[in-house]
Amino acid sequence: MSSVLSRSLVVALLAAGQLLAQAPPKGTQILRTSRILDGTGSTLTNTDIEVVDGRITALRPATGPLPANAIDLRRRTVLPGLIDTHVHLGWYVNDENRLHTDSDGDTPAEQAYHQAGNAWVTLRAGFTTVQSIGEADNDVLRTAIALGLIPGPRLITSLGSLNERTGGGSPDSLRAAVRRFKTAGADVIKIFASKSIRDGGEATMTDEQLAAACGESTTLGLRSVVHAHSAEAVQRAARNACTQVEHGVFTDDATRAMMVARGTFFDPQCGLVFHNYLDNKVRFEGIGNYNAVGFASMEKAIPLAEAGIRAASRTPGLKLVFGTDAVAGAHGRNAEELVCRVRRGGQSAMDAIVSATSRAAESLRLEKQIGRIAVGFNADIIATDGDPSTEIEATQRVVFVMRNGSVFRNESAGR
Ligand SMILES: [Zn+2]
Repeated sequence: MSSVLSRSLVVALLAAGQLLAQAPPKGTQILRTSRILDGTGSTLTNTDIEVVDGRITALRPATGPLPANAIDLRRRTVLPGLIDTHVHLGWYVNDENRLHTDSDGDTPAEQAYHQAGNAWVTLRAGFTTVQSIGEADNDVLRTAIALGLIPGPRLITSLGSLNERTGGGSPDSLRAAVRRFKTAGADVIKIFASKSIRDGGEATMTDEQLAAACGESTTLGLRSVVHAHSAEAVQRAARNACTQVEHGVFTDDATRAMMVARGTFFDPQCGLVFHNYLDNKVRFEGIGNYNAVGFASMEKAIPLAEAGIRAASRTPGLKLVFGTDAVAGAHGRNAEELVCRVRRGGQSAMDAIVSATSRAAESLRLEKQIGRIAVGFNADIIATDGDPSTEIEATQRVVFVMRNGSVFRNESAGR
């Protein structure tokens, strides 16, 4: 599902001198708060957050009159910008009300605007960082967001993926493919090690292949994120030191124990991805494996997925991380997955929030920069109407979004 995003827009805006639109505001900003969920499971009360040059520079008791120009968030709950470690920002529904494909005739400009739109709705929903398990053109999107040409979440991307057939599938050719992604600027390596859930999910890559692909990623300093559904496929990923496993619908106790032992991050989905496909069936039906068998498989996966969240969130030491697998139709609805985690999967609301903040940051190796409200961290700060630690649905009512000190949404004044 690769698409071509024109570079001309970026080039034109660079020439027009718009390059630094994203620079953080000058001077000191103060956010006055009454309740902060700090991203580690702790709560801070009555605190002023000081932001300078896009970073949190001080947390101090909120006393005295409201400072001039302070942003008053006292009626809200404040938390770190949310992080989704698995989205597909290139996926969208086209003007024919169908999933966009390479052959639908959409122009590069149409594709670019849809990708920009996906980035904007995701940021508005309070997700200030995403990992797009995406296509080659995600690099232009990453640049456009980083330069402030368009609003969007901080974008981390694989620029494509490997599977058991890449370059013929020999260990050497898989290593070479990993090196090519690194050269192209990938932040992370995406590996398909099992079939799709719509095709049964059985293992497709051998231990030898995974050892080569994940090993080469590690050698180059990159993380490896592995799509795996069957227990065997998940075990092979954990055994061969891959960084993170996605999905894992058929994961069992022994497999979870292996991920704990190996320190593997685990990113199972609870429901948004399945419900989005089923609710939008008419937009996907007849494309690839989006057929009757595929939809039936996804319907059957829902109770398994919910039970999987229940088991994973009760497995001590398992590094459970948040990722939605948001595709066309699901962008901006990422918080529905948090609601599913808590209401259907039985995870505690605070654990779900930690999994989408400091734990997600750790999985991205950004734990010293994002995912917490603490001195020295990037000023990625959101506020919700209601307290998500007691009512997780509040994550669907984001009223304030700041990323790197720039405010992208502020409906906080209402009382
Ligand atoms: Zn995916």
